[in-house]
Amino acid sequence: MALPTTEALKRLAEGNRRFAEGQGRTGWTAEQRVASLEGQRPWAAVVACSDSRVPVEAVFDAGPGELFVVRTAGHVLAQASLASLRFAVEALGVPLVLVLGHEDCGAVKATLAGGAPEWLEPITRHIRVEGIDPGRAPADADDALLAAAVDEHVRDTVDELVAFFAEAMLGPKTPHITGGAYKLSSGVVHWL
Ligand SMILES: [Zn+2]
Repeated sequence: MALPTTEALKRLAEGNRRFAEGQGRTGWTAEQRVASLEGQRPWAAVVACSDSRVPVEAVFDAGPGELFVVRTAGHVLAQASLASLRFAVEALGVPLVLVLGHEDCGAVKATLAGGAPEWLEPITRHIRVEGIDPGRAPADADDALLAAAVDEHVRDTVDELVAFFAEAMLGPKTPHITGGAYKLSSGVVHWL
């Protein structure tokens, strides 16, 4: 059963209190927060899935002000995602953009399986599964096939971003764009 909303809100408020008091699980300190008042100078942007099992800052052991993170389900690039990334690169001088896929991605699974509700189409239409029969039943989609589909979707997203930044003509500010996939069980990102 889902957590009652009153309990969920209580957890948010209590978590925020622990964080503000420096007792949070992330280990982020008040000093780091105060220092971040001077402005942000992130050294990388990460395009990741909204999946709650992929906490980007924790995965890269990064503190406040270090990563500029854009998340959508299936790390799909919406118009606002692209504008956000261009802001990170052009205004904040971020030199590196990482596209981070992950094991057991529900968005990729839903696309592979077919039959996703129409309202998910803004996500699923961005996920191409070349060489894999669209609409394949999830029971037929073994882990290796899913992992290959995730890798392919990451590579496609990298290509999309390379084309986007080429068109933006930012000259020396053009970022390096790369991809990776995060494995839930090991915590390891393998680089694509
Ligand atoms: Zn996902």
